[in-house]
Amino acid sequence: MSEYPYNNRTFQILDAAEKGGYAVAAFNCYNTDGILGSIRAAERMKSPAIIEIFPWSMHFQGPEFIKFAAEACHAASVPISLHLDHCTLEPDVYKALELPFDSIMVDASSHDPEENIKFVGHIVELAKERGITIEAEMGRIVGGEDGVPTVDMEALYTEPELAAEFVDRTGVHFLAPSIGNVHGPYPPGGPEKYWQLDRLENIKKLSPSSILVLHGTHPLIDDLMKKTVALGIRKVNLNRNLHEGYLEFLGKNVGKLEMTKLQEGSIASWMEEAERCIKLLGSDGKAA
Ligand SMILES: [Zn+2]
Repeated sequence: MSEYPYNNRTFQILDAAEKGGYAVAAFNCYNTDGILGSIRAAERMKSPAIIEIFPWSMHFQGPEFIKFAAEACHAASVPISLHLDHCTLEPDVYKALELPFDSIMVDASSHDPEENIKFVGHIVELAKERGITIEAEMGRIVGGEDGVPTVDMEALYTEPELAAEFVDRTGVHFLAPSIGNVHGPYPPGGPEKYWQLDRLENIKKLSPSSILVLHGTHPLIDDLMKKTVALGIRKVNLNRNLHEGYLEFLGKNVGKLEMTKLQEGSIASWMEEAERCIKLLGSDGKAA
């Protein structure tokens, strides 16, 4: 039996992506529709995938929902892991360590850098005993998305030297750098104007062993996304673009279709965008 972190599902999925030179979609889900749609899309595309939920779900839907999500992911015919996104509050991190997550993003990026290092390092140690891997943010990805507190400050770009030190001192498995990516709406010019690909390249150069994660991917610009994958991004968080088609279908059909047809149709809309994303990131066929 391989040893930690090689026996961890999220690590296995992303380590294979690192070796294969592609990225894996991490779908932010708020309900069973998102979870089922993402799993079915990944199965149909013979692709690995990651299902992400926010700490909000641990509170609003409770531990039973997390257990359902984990069972659904782990019963899939392709490798799928369950990840907790943006866990900002300390009590939530401890709660999550007792739930069947494969990986957790500890977001202590609003603390000062030294505190961030100490806290993340401590959690990596605790997570190890439970077989869970850890993602952390270095620098600061600004903006707000549904489920993540909105912050209002200038972007703090990740310094490649500091990122290398952060990975080294914390032992974190997955690193989410801040390269001009923001959560939620971009100012005029969009990601093309703000993403600093040379910064991403330098981060990867100085931290060759770290697996890189991209947040703040809405709008999803195909060409730009492919460039980041070529530069080493292995996990891409997806949220708003998945919900657009899903919500549009619901909006048009609520009150017109029976519940069964409504759910089937909305999940089909979700799958359509999820499958497009899987193809774009190059993970289709990788679980075959
Ligand atoms: Zn994020």
